[in-house]
Amino acid sequence: MVSESTHDVKSTGIRERLGEFCYSAGLLSPLQRVRSWWHKDLRILAYHRVMPLPDPDSYDFDMELISATPEGFREQMLLVKERYRPMRLSDVAAAIDAGHALPPDTVVITFDDGYDDNYHIAFPILQELGIPATFFVSTGHIDSGRPYAYDWLVHMILMTGAARLELPELGMDMPMPVGRAARRALATSVLDHMKEISALAQAGMIRRLEKEWHMPSDAAVPADCRPMTWDQLREMHAAGLEIGSHGVNHWMLSKLPLDELEREVRDSRDALLRELGPMPLLMSYPVGSNRAFDRQVIEVTRSAGFDVACSYISGTNPQPAANRYSLYRLAVERYIGKRWFAAMLTMPGLINHPTPAHLATSDEAPSCSH
Ligand SMILES: [Zn+2]
Repeated sequence: MVSESTHDVKSTGIRERLGEFCYSAGLLSPLQRVRSWWHKDLRILAYHRVMPLPDPDSYDFDMELISATPEGFREQMLLVKERYRPMRLSDVAAAIDAGHALPPDTVVITFDDGYDDNYHIAFPILQELGIPATFFVSTGHIDSGRPYAYDWLVHMILMTGAARLELPELGMDMPMPVGRAARRALATSVLDHMKEISALAQAGMIRRLEKEWHMPSDAAVPADCRPMTWDQLREMHAAGLEIGSHGVNHWMLSKLPLDELEREVRDSRDALLRELGPMPLLMSYPVGSNRAFDRQVIEVTRSAGFDVACSYISGTNPQPAANRYSLYRLAVERYIGKRWFAAMLTMPGLINHPTPAHLATSDEAPSCSH
C-alpha cells in the first residue's frame, strides 16, 4: 500500500497508455476473441471499497482502499456483463470438483474486508445488472462493528496530536510530520514494515497506540470506516450474493501460531454458518501476498472445509484446479479508468496492475495491505 504519488509511475504509465491505445484502436474485441481461443484462464477481480472519491486533504482514512467510484464501478460491471461471463465463485469450485472446464471469458467479482459501502453502493449496482459477486468479510469486525485495524492505524497517524512516532516494535522513532501527504506516506511505510512482525505483535502495537494517543477504535465509529452488519449481509446473501471468510480479525494467517491460525479459520467459518446458514465455504486470505499464507495456512483452510481460497497475488488462473487454494486475482484500483479496465480484462497478462505493495516490496508478490 503506497500513496498514488509514490507508485512506479513509469510502468503504470506504460500499462495505461498501451491499454488506452488498444481501446481507442478498437483492438480489444478482436484481441479478446483471439485470446479466448488459446487462454481459458479464470479472471477474478478484487475490490475493496466503492465510494465517491473524497478530498485527500480532509479524508481521515486510507485512500488506498478505494477501488472505484460508484459511477466507475457501474461502468466496469456493464462491461463485464456485456463482454464476459460473470460467474459465482462457488460455481467455479463446483466445476473444479466435477472436472468441468470453465466457459471462456469467465470473470468472478470479489470484495475484501466488508466495508458498508459494499452494501450501500456495490450491492444495488450488482443487483440491477444481475451480476454475482463474493464478499469476503472479517467476521470479528462484523460482530463488533469496530473499524479494521490497519485503516484505524492510518487514521490515527493522520489525526494524532503526538509530536513523535515511536514504534520500537518496528525500530522506528521519528518526529511526526506536519502535512497530511507526509503523514499518509509515513502510514504507508509503517504498514509495510508491520508485515515483518507477527500478527499478534501487529495487533499489540496498534492497541498500544490507541491507548497512548487516546484514540480507541471501539469508541463511536466514524461513518467513513464502518463494516457491514450481519443484517446487511443476510439481505445480500438472500439476494444471491456470496459471503466468504476474510478471517476473524484480519490477521495475516501465516504470521500466527498454529492454534491461533486454526481459530481464525474455523471461527470465521462458524460465524458465517451461524449467521447466514449452510453455504459453500469460500476464503480470501487477509493481506494475501505470498508472505501472508503458506502451506500450513492452505492445509488448515482446506481441512476446515473451505472449497476455494483467493490470494491477492496478481494474475489469472489458467488451471484453477491446480491452485484452488491460492487463486490469483486482478486488483482494481481507483485510478484505473474505463479504457484501462477494459484492456486489463482483455489482456490481463500485459495490462494487469501490480498492486502498490508489490511495487514497494519487490521481493514478494503483490499483496493487499488491508
Ligand atoms: Zn483485507
